[in-house]
Amino acid sequence: MQHLHHFFIDGAWVPPHRLNAIEVVDPSTEQPIASLALGAEEDVERAVTAAARAFLSWSETPLKERKAAVVRLAEVYQRRAEEMGAAISREMGAPIDLATTAQVGSGSGHFQTFLDLIGGFEFEEWLEADSHCHRILKEPIGVVALITPWNWPMNQIALKVVPALLTGCTVVLKPSEIAPLSGHLFAEMVAEAGIPAGVFNLVHGNGAGVGSALTAHPRVDMVSFTGSNRAGVAISKTAADTIKRVSLELGGKGANILFDDADEEAVARGLASCFLNSGQGCNAPSRMLVHRGIYEETVAKAAEIARAVQVAPASRPGDHIGPVVSRAQYERIQGLIASGLEQGARLVAGGLGRPEGLEIGYFVRPTVLADCTNDMTVAREEIFGPVQVIIPFDSEEEAIAIANDTVFGLTNYVQSADLDRARRVARALRSGMVEINGVGRSWRTPFGGYKQSGSGREGGLWGIEEFLEVKAVSGWDGTG
Ligand code: NAD
Repeated sequence: MQHLHHFFIDGAWVPPHRLNAIEVVDPSTEQPIASLALGAEEDVERAVTAAARAFLSWSETPLKERKAAVVRLAEVYQRRAEEMGAAISREMGAPIDLATTAQVGSGSGHFQTFLDLIGGFEFEEWLEADSHCHRILKEPIGVVALITPWNWPMNQIALKVVPALLTGCTVVLKPSEIAPLSGHLFAEMVAEAGIPAGVFNLVHGNGAGVGSALTAHPRVDMVSFTGSNRAGVAISKTAADTIKRVSLELGGKGANILFDDADEEAVARGLASCFLNSGQGCNAPSRMLVHRGIYEETVAKAAEIARAVQVAPASRPGDHIGPVVSRAQYERIQGLIASGLEQGARLVAGGLGRPEGLEIGYFVRPTVLADCTNDMTVAREEIFGPVQVIIPFDSEEEAIAIANDTVFGLTNYVQSADLDRARRVARALRSGMVEINGVGRSWRTPFGGYKQSGSGREGGLWGIEEFLEVKAVSGWDGTG
């Protein structure tokens, strides 16, 4: 049993102001694996004070030195990658092979991409090409609170911490209290990399405590948040009192539109993407919209593929899916599957209860619900489990209308051999990202959503801009 009873503040591991601990549970075994101290307002105060003090020097540190510090951190991250994979796998149930490859690799990818981009980034430019009167300066926002979820912990921590440090911001990170092992290990890596004291701080805690104290703190200049819409709303309201910059990466209800000329792999690809990470992805293509002409064969294929998906504990090597993260998530998913059945969906694979042979652990049966309509609860709410909803459509216009008929707008998917049609549909979809025929994002892709999927973009150049203020100086060359 690990004891996470220290926070990393001002370059040192310090005990909490008062000990108030919760258990961290391994979702594959339902056994406690760690005891986690939840921070209080006093701990937030210490961390924010340290970050505010460090900002004075870190923001003035030459980019070359900041970059060198992040390179050192990236090296430690690579060296301890196996440990990181093991921590992620245990805390949130990603199968060990997925944890050590895609989960840990997402962090490495962001380190590499931001380090590649920052050298050529224009922190200063002229407003007008033919005049030296107006200078635009891009300056670090200040102290940023980074609040992250449990589903892709290193993806989200790297997406936030790396550009924040490179741009000269100082940070207080609060990882998810459900899966804090990886964030804790990340802080150990920061300590090992010798990042100057106060530049990076970590305070564990829950949303109501540390999360809202960080959000309300007058010396925190920005909150960068990834997580649920519920928390996104709470953060926006709390941050309003101090007019903080708020960046929100929230939920999704992606449509995957399969036209009748979709390629042979499209159904398998859609299912694999929907079930990846046990369905716990904000960009999961959870609504499969299928052209009437290929509807029945697609439903049959999807059912067959889902039935073949293996479910097993996270510690087992292989390409099975693991449990979902917690009992609460398990029960929520069961409730949503039940609602789908009550509202008239046709169950063609999976269903309620655990997969056969798995009595313990938060394992969900890979489920396919066909004949859904877009007004069913399973088509409107984020399920965050291995559940594929299938909805038929008759025309391109109808497919677009169904896809856009959601409060979310994160990622949509289009499958068609007709690229003109695919591009036309991509333009009509109201989402921050669209993937055509299985071509995935680049590391430089701006990640973020339209509508209630959030505000702001992470990743690539946009992810650097997120942490910068824009200052316009007129009269730079003494002319007017
Ligand atoms: P969550 O909102 O419950 O928790 C996320 C983080 O916010 C945690 O660290 C939590 O402690 C904190 N938090 C909760 N309430 C808070 C409050 N009132 N004030 C401040 N902080 C608070 O989300 P989760 O269950 O950990 O993650 C799943 C959600 O994350 C899903 O909805 C998913 O779609 C979303 N997500 C979005 C993206 C994206 O980039 N758009 C990526 C991954 C996950």
